[in-house]
Amino acid sequence: CGIVGYIGIQDSKEILLKGLEKLEYRGYDSAGIAVSNNEGVHVFKEKGRIADLRKIVDLDVSANMGIGHTRWATHGAPSQVNAHPHQSESGKLTLVHNGVIENYDMLKREYLQEVTLKSDTDTEVVVQIIELFVNDGLEVEDAFRKTLKLLKGSYALALLDNENDETIYVAKNKSPLLVGLGDGFNVVASDAMAMLQVTNQYVELMDKEIVIVKKDQVTIQTLDGEVVNRDSYTAELDA
Ligand code: GLU
Repeated sequence: CGIVGYIGIQDSKEILLKGLEKLEYRGYDSAGIAVSNNEGVHVFKEKGRIADLRKIVDLDVSANMGIGHTRWATHGAPSQVNAHPHQSESGKLTLVHNGVIENYDMLKREYLQEVTLKSDTDTEVVVQIIELFVNDGLEVEDAFRKTLKLLKGSYALALLDNENDETIYVAKNKSPLLVGLGDGFNVVASDAMAMLQVTNQYVELMDKEIVIVKKDQVTIQTLDGEVVNRDSYTAELDA
């Protein structure tokens, strides 16, 4: 299972799909991508191989940013509906997740009594709670941060806001996730191997950090909003 993300100048679909193919070795049962342009977020997901996903991706949608996911099901059977990305009730927010949210059932009972969940995943609970906090008036970044503070378990997360095609929101705890730096673009990946196709400069992320990724800027913060400065390293791998 794995996560990729790209924001920048090129069309993102092929970069994301290639990235997911590089992560196939980790094992998965379904895969999906969400790409975002000024018309909003477009989600493509499928049970099965990346090759199956490729068949349903609309090549006419051009988008300079997006996120991708290979799923190893832990909560909910492998299916198209349970495949990631998952979207909030209004469709405003789109999330991919690797890991296990241990307290998802408690969170569901406490926050989502009035929300009809579409999938059986622990992940959907997270995106629905973020939207709940946005509906309460918080900015997406603050709603994400507030939700992260409620989560118990492991996660690598990448979040899109369909009204903002300039930002990927990222966070991790006990699941691997890196940010890759480029010239006019930046990427996200569970493993540098996935994005060596576009950059070999990576920044490691620590548990309970939140990262705001834009095409020309990456800001790492603690959950309490303290900015963290960390140097990048060169990934010495064969692409
Ligand atoms: N727990 C999530 C699910 O079952 C994510 C699994 C994964 O890491 O791929 O959908």
